[in-house]
Amino acid sequence: MNNLILECKNLNKYYKQATENLLVLDNINFSVKLGETVSIMGSSGSGKSTLLHILAGLDTKITGEVFINDILINKLSNKHLCKLRNSYTGFIYQFHHLLPEFSALENVLIPLFISNVSINKTMKDKAIYLLEKLGIYNRHSHYPSQLSGGERQRVAIARAMINDPQLIFADEPTGNLDNQTSKQVLNQFLKLQEEFKTSLIIVTHNLEIANSTTTKYKLLDNKLTLLENI
Ligand code: ADP
Ligand code: MG
Repeated sequence: MNNLILECKNLNKYYKQATENLLVLDNINFSVKLGETVSIMGSSGSGKSTLLHILAGLDTKITGEVFINDILINKLSNKHLCKLRNSYTGFIYQFHHLLPEFSALENVLIPLFISNVSINKTMKDKAIYLLEKLGIYNRHSHYPSQLSGGERQRVAIARAMINDPQLIFADEPTGNLDNQTSKQVLNQFLKLQEEFKTSLIIVTHNLEIANSTTTKYKLLDNKLTLLENI
């Protein structure tokens, strides 16, 4: 047992195309310790989302190995992979992916429904706590269409944290928000992440956010490069 929550070894990713394959990730070796926060920067199209999806087990069409909590995820059955993802990880997308027919509070509780857990008071209290900390408890009964972009993204953050994940993946979580809202949402998110000591991998273009993480990488020419202070 080591203290790594995530490890990837000799990871290569190609997208199949009609004529030749498109190489996106070239021999990525990378690990994240428990409690570590990692930012990944890189220009549009450099492969950041592709990498995050692979590390989170959302895309297993790769060569190489990805371990979450020492478990090799590439070869797991869909059912086991889903279970592992739901137990250890949370994912925040650039677009919120909330379910329109459920309220904010119900959306936060959805990962628990998926895990077949019957919702008890402790879980509901946790959802309420997260919404409070994100400053939107007063909106808990609203539907996604009744919320602003920043509020929807806060619900998505609470949803990613409801299962007490050890590791959160965030793919430009505030990329669609204006600067000021983006700053507020990210600061609230990072406070919660610190409180729960969750490991974090965040894709961001925001230097301030990148500088607040323990380790910074840049994806360039299909390779992941460690950045010194920038
Ligand atoms: P980023 O998140 O850094 O903007 P992506 O990971 O979305 O980059 O994309 C990396 C490259 O892979 C881009 O050239 C993109 O066009 C290509 N790509 C992404 N998804 C697919 C796909 N499903 N099929 C084929 N090519 C893809
Ligand atoms: Mg992307």
